[in-house]
Amino acid sequence: MLCTGRLGGLAARASALLPGRARPGGLGAGLWAREVSTSWSPVGAAFNVKPQGFRLDLFGERQGLFGVPELSAPEGFRIAQENALRKSDLLVARACSTPPGPQTVLIFDELSDALCRVADLADFVKLAHPEPAFREAAEEACRSIGTVVEKLNTNVELYQSLQKLLADKKLVDSLDPETRRVAELFMFDFEISGIHLDKEKRKRAVDLNVKILDLSSRFLMGANFPNKIEKHLLPEHIHQNFVLAGEHVIVDGLHAEAPDDLVREAAYKIFLYPNAGQLRCLEELLSNRDLLAKLVGYSTYSHRALQGTIAKNPETVMEFLEKLSDKLSERTLKDFEMIRGMKMKLNPQNSELMPWDPPYYSGVIRAERYNIEPSLYCPFFSLGACMEGLSILFNELFGVSLYAEQTAKGEVWCDDVRKLAVVHESEGLLGYIYCDFLQRADKPHQDCHFTIRGGRLKEDGDYQLPVVVLMLNLPPSSRNSPTLLTPGMMENLFHEMGHAMHSMLGRTRYQHVTGTRCPTDFAEVPSILMEYFANDYRVVNQFARHYKTGQVCFRSVLRSMTL
Ligand SMILES: [Zn+2]
Repeated sequence: MLCTGRLGGLAARASALLPGRARPGGLGAGLWAREVSTSWSPVGAAFNVKPQGFRLDLFGERQGLFGVPELSAPEGFRIAQENALRKSDLLVARACSTPPGPQTVLIFDELSDALCRVADLADFVKLAHPEPAFREAAEEACRSIGTVVEKLNTNVELYQSLQKLLADKKLVDSLDPETRRVAELFMFDFEISGIHLDKEKRKRAVDLNVKILDLSSRFLMGANFPNKIEKHLLPEHIHQNFVLAGEHVIVDGLHAEAPDDLVREAAYKIFLYPNAGQLRCLEELLSNRDLLAKLVGYSTYSHRALQGTIAKNPETVMEFLEKLSDKLSERTLKDFEMIRGMKMKLNPQNSELMPWDPPYYSGVIRAERYNIEPSLYCPFFSLGACMEGLSILFNELFGVSLYAEQTAKGEVWCDDVRKLAVVHESEGLLGYIYCDFLQRADKPHQDCHFTIRGGRLKEDGDYQLPVVVLMLNLPPSSRNSPTLLTPGMMENLFHEMGHAMHSMLGRTRYQHVTGTRCPTDFAEVPSILMEYFANDYRVVNQFARHYKTGQVCFRSVLRSMTL
């Protein structure tokens, strides 16, 4: 999933709302010594090998999240936000006083970068930081920058500086295609924000946009957080499947792969229990979106949201969905018949198919068909082995290698976050991926790629390296083994790494269109392609190695799991 940022216009397009002591080459001492194969490459070791104890970094200087100096404490968000707003004031003044030309587009992109660098980072921190004070400070920063962005999207003077450029055919013809495209995209953002309206209506559009930002953020947060129920309301024998907190049982997801029907049923009903507050929030969000769309001249919010995507309008989307549904319905009916049959076989007393059943029973059917036991293949798919596999694959496809880097004190929000440097064989360092892969309390239950900073060519000729976070919810390592992945988890890992590589390789001059900041429906293409690699024997065969012995996986097992 690519989590799309919710700032529009001058904030970068589709910006992303999609670990700490990795030591390069750090094999040997302080590991699960005798239990883990020591032949991992450094990137494999970073994910499979647990450093012993907590390495106290008493003397290192605290750097702040992502190495941003201000962010060593929650109060730093206010400083970062004020700095960004000060810079944006200067850039707005520069854009309005610079004669129209390619320079105008550069200034717009820098303005967008100054705001997004704080807003996108805050967008991630407000969801994923384990400390509430950081989350709250980040949320405040998102809200205040979001408001400024909406005001800029309806700033007439700023609009005119771009309009002067795009209205001059000779000037437009002299622009290179990339610059011209970015100029048009910025113009498009003004248009969908209601720049053509009178002053009062523009103010109303800003208010609606800010309200929509707030409501969608509230709704998304509410949708991802666990639900709790009093202990005595659940049969005692299933308590151990959930997190217990005092007198409550915490349900943080659907537990869709749990073999016990009752566990899945309980998780489904509790996690998805109708929440009046969430419903009100959603209704309010939808009606505000509708008001905004009509105010700026669209018949529905979908028409506004889909302009600028490959699909272009809701009619194309519906046509696509209907065609797909027609073509799939026969196959789906057959699938459901098989699932029903499997439930009947395993659970004849309670054989009616329920909404919490299909993912589990289809997994059972798959395992039966392939005739493999998870315990046969799981040890070959440790997180480290899969990361090593991705590094091998990227090397063969793109000439790119992944290196685990040591993080500075305060740079990451949780000890198990790993930082990867992405290095191209001839172009050198392309950017950084922070891997926040393991479950923890209060972490949203979603696999997602977040752009923290977009790549762009700076005026001094240096390239601003992209920084992204990949968030997964993999089980933590145990005393005896590193994190082991099921085929489904491996597919998700490959999917999210597809987004990350899109961000690293999509090097553009302007951050407004870098990496995954492309039409949102195109952004899923590289990640879905990566899923095919996760299911290809020729790829998987290169890295499936037992975490303990280093032994390669049996050919027959791999053959039955892959295409
Ligand atoms: Zn995705």
